[in-house]
Amino acid sequence: MNDLAKNPDTFCGDEPTTSCRVCGGTLTETQVTSGKPPYRTSWRLCAMCESWSIERKPEIDRLNIFYRDYALHNRKAAVNPGNNDGRRYTEAWRLVREHEYQLGIKDCGLELKAGQKIVDFGAYDGIFLDVCRELEPDLAHTTIVDYPREEVDSGLTLEHRFQTIDDWLEGSSTVDVVALWDVYEHVTDLDTLLQALSRRVIKGGQVVVQTPRAHQHAHILQERWHHFLPVQHLQLPSRAGLLQQFEKVGFRMVTAGSFGANAPADIIPEPYKKLFDTLAKQGDLGSTQLIRFVQS
Ligand SMILES: [Zn+2]
Repeated sequence: MNDLAKNPDTFCGDEPTTSCRVCGGTLTETQVTSGKPPYRTSWRLCAMCESWSIERKPEIDRLNIFYRDYALHNRKAAVNPGNNDGRRYTEAWRLVREHEYQLGIKDCGLELKAGQKIVDFGAYDGIFLDVCRELEPDLAHTTIVDYPREEVDSGLTLEHRFQTIDDWLEGSSTVDVVALWDVYEHVTDLDTLLQALSRRVIKGGQVVVQTPRAHQHAHILQERWHHFLPVQHLQLPSRAGLLQQFEKVGFRMVTAGSFGANAPADIIPEPYKKLFDTLAKQGDLGSTQLIRFVQS
């Protein structure tokens, strides 16, 4: 291991990104930069679909160093305290997450039926699959797809199977439902993921994507938009970009919504936070989008 690998002067890559990571379109000069070195990261706006792409091509080795010591780097890289601080993955937040997943499943109309095979891609500790099991106890099987690590082990019960991300992306057996919950924005190789979804989800099968939504929030808040998360968020898709990308590989959107006003509770007091968040959801102007696709 050389010195750079042990202690990178930047966690971003060296090669510039030459086209939109979502639609392949031309990138504009419009740019947002966030974080201090070695986490400092820029994103550029797409002229075609208005998604944002990380300005440098991701380098797996550096990302691995970042994620290996995630708690430390995530805290140091954060520019918007109160968001993305890793708390939501602690046991104390389990109930909050369960509630969010239940609400999301209801909002997007995800259909869970007996006998289905469900994959949670980037499942982490598997709580989303626990919620699916509670809603439909007779699922055929539920699979955590992630990197092997401690948090995953704690989610490994008799109920859930486990497969590594690389193995799943290469596999061919079919499944009924794939969830991409808070993971799309981190994926380094979207083409391989989209091809795997196209190949492995049965006709009529569902894919649910929850991911940041690039639109007014990004332009108005710039680096204060909490989804401009240094190093980690490689693409921040517009709805148009996301739809185009999934339609290209055979998926059709059946429901699309958004929520969250990017109004941190430590800055925006109630009842205004609730007002902003409610308006964002009802007006479909939220900072996070939730889309359900069906394989056609
Ligand atoms: Zn684009």
